[in-house]
Order: sequence, then C-alpha cells, then structure tokens
Amino acid sequence: MSAAKTHTVWVTGSSRGIGLAVAEKFARKGHRVALHCVHRVETLTRETERLRATGLNVMQVTGDIASEADCFRMAHEIAAVFGPVEILVNNAGIALEEKLLTDCTAEELARVAMTDLVGPMLCAKAVVPHMVSDRAGSIVNIASYLGITGCSCETPYAAAKAGVIGFTKSLAAELAPSGVRVNAVAPGYIPTEMNAEFDEETVRAIANDIPLGRLGSAEEIAEAVYFLAMEETASFITGQTLAVDGGSSL
Ligand code: NDP
Repeated sequence: MSAAKTHTVWVTGSSRGIGLAVAEKFARKGHRVALHCVHRVETLTRETERLRATGLNVMQVTGDIASEADCFRMAHEIAAVFGPVEILVNNAGIALEEKLLTDCTAEELARVAMTDLVGPMLCAKAVVPHMVSDRAGSIVNIASYLGITGCSCETPYAAAKAGVIGFTKSLAAELAPSGVRVNAVAPGYIPTEMNAEFDEETVRAIANDIPLGRLGSAEEIAEAVYFLAMEETASFITGQTLAVDGGSSL
C-alpha cells in the first residue's frame, strides 16, 4: 500500500490557540508544517521546538500578514525549506475589546480590517500562483460565527469575518477552474488568549447560551479544518463555510 500524500502546509497565527492546534494536527498526520506569528516570536520558537522534539516536520516563519512584502517573503522562505505551500490555513486574527462602533478609532477599524480580512487575501495572493500552476491546492480561512450572525459591540471584527466568508466564496469561484479549493471554518466560542479577558461568570453565561451547552475546543476546530483541507475528505467541496460552533449561529 502506498503512503498517503503529504503536503507543505502554512498555518498563519499558529504560535498559540486555534492555529497551534491546527498546525499540530497537520504535523501529526505527517505533513510539513510552517508555524507562524509576528509579535511573540519566543512563544512561536518554543512551540516549534516542542513539536520538532517529538519528531514532527515543522519550521517557523515570522511576519505581519497585513504586509504584502512579509507575506511573499514568508511564502518564499517556506518554499525554500519544504517546497511550495500546497495548503494554506488563514488563521491569524485579532479582535478589539468589546465596544460601540462610535468608540472605535479609525486606526482600530483599519487594523482589524487589515489583519482579519486583507491579511488572509495577501497570504492567498502569495501562494495561489503555484497552486494554480500545479492545478491543486487548498485554502481554509478561519472566519467566525459572528461573521454569520453579526454582533453588537464587535462590529469591526464581525464585519471583517463576514468579509472572510465573502472572500472564501469569491476566491473559490475564481480558482475552481484551476482545481484549487477554498473553504472556511466559522468557530464558535473557543477559550484562547483572544477572549481571555472574560471572567468565569461571563464564560459560564456564554456556555449556557450555546445550544450544545458548552464551549468548543481548538482541537474540534482543527478537525474541521483538516477535513476541509484534504482532498481525501473534501474533494468536491469549495466555497463553503462550516460553522463549528455548538449551534451558536442557529
Ligand atoms: P489567539 O489570539 O490565541 O491567536 C492569534 C494568533 O494570530 C497568534 O499566533 C498571533 O501571534 C497571530 N497574529 C495576530 N496578529 C497577527 C498578524 N498581524 N500577523 C501575523 N500573526 C498574527 O487567537 P485564537 O486562536 O482564539 O483565534 C484564531 C483565529 O480564530 C482568529 O482568526 C480568530 O478571529 C478566530 N476565531 C476565534 C474564536 C475564539 O473564540 N477564540 C471564535 C471565532 C473565530 P502574535 O500576536 O504573537 O503575532
């Protein structure tokens, strides 16, 4: 029996949280995985070395996904070590603290839009040419259930994530003739550093509001990303957004 095909995978924002769980999932399945972040590089290095110490084939790249130059440089660095990116997981993202739109500065609105919406497009721009020439490849964007439902006091974030869903559909249509698939996962509430500011009582109230009655885990998101990314499981799926949110978007 021939061994399953392995791929070069770039998971953006994989120094912690959901991205780290996704990177670990692909690496444990035997793929060559580039971990990534921009700010806390020591955390990224620690996690990359932790995975490498268990025999996994991982490397790290650093750069701001809101910078086109950084995105192209990182794609080249990955290609030089592991070969061109064949699976891109656009996971890196930021959120502001909850506040009214009228309390957000123009700089904050631009920062969220650049990181959460333009950044994934720039990463895709950097890897799509090779995917198209290879007539293969897959992109999974991490949206959010808030991009489906909308959310008071999280307008910039929810708007950017709704944009990610639109980006997913549009790029999927653009790349389908080239055999490249583009899908999204829309997570529900997952306890990570992104929402660490909520106290226990608030988190309990959030869990009670989720139809399945509990928070999700980063590993549950990683399972869905892996399913959508792989040709073996999702070869006829493109342009879709899979909510993995315990029913929050119902
Ligand atoms: P975390 O804050 O735990 O992790 C975010 C990751 O993105 C870190 O690795 C961070 O590293 C990196 N990052 C942030 N900004 C940039 C940037 N400009 N360039 C490169 N890397 C960057 O978040 P989560 O794991 O919770 O979230 C992951 C994704 O899932 C995000 O897109 C988020 O919007 C989405 N999501 C999360 C939900 C949740 O409940 N947690 C729910 C729905 C969606 P560093 O800052 O060190 O560079």
